[in-house]
Amino acid sequence: MSVRCRACIKCRSYVVIHPSNPVNQVEIKRFEKKHLGHTVVTVDINEVKGSYNSEKNNEQNKTAQQIE
Ligand SMILES: [Zn+2]
Repeated sequence: MSVRCRACIKCRSYVVIHPSNPVNQVEIKRFEKKHLGHTVVTVDINEVKGSYNSEKNNEQNKTAQQIE
């Protein structure tokens, strides 16, 4: 079982892909929009964990404010 994620090589940040989670689909789209023009790749979580930052953790407070 492998967990995949979308990662921006330029910003060194990523979001985990949950294929059956519609909320996550929105997060992925938002991530891709934010990093438009950057190099965004789909990789195994093990390739980015530790060296990349989780986009969700960074954006959690900001995102919550934007949604409300
Ligand atoms: Zn980026």
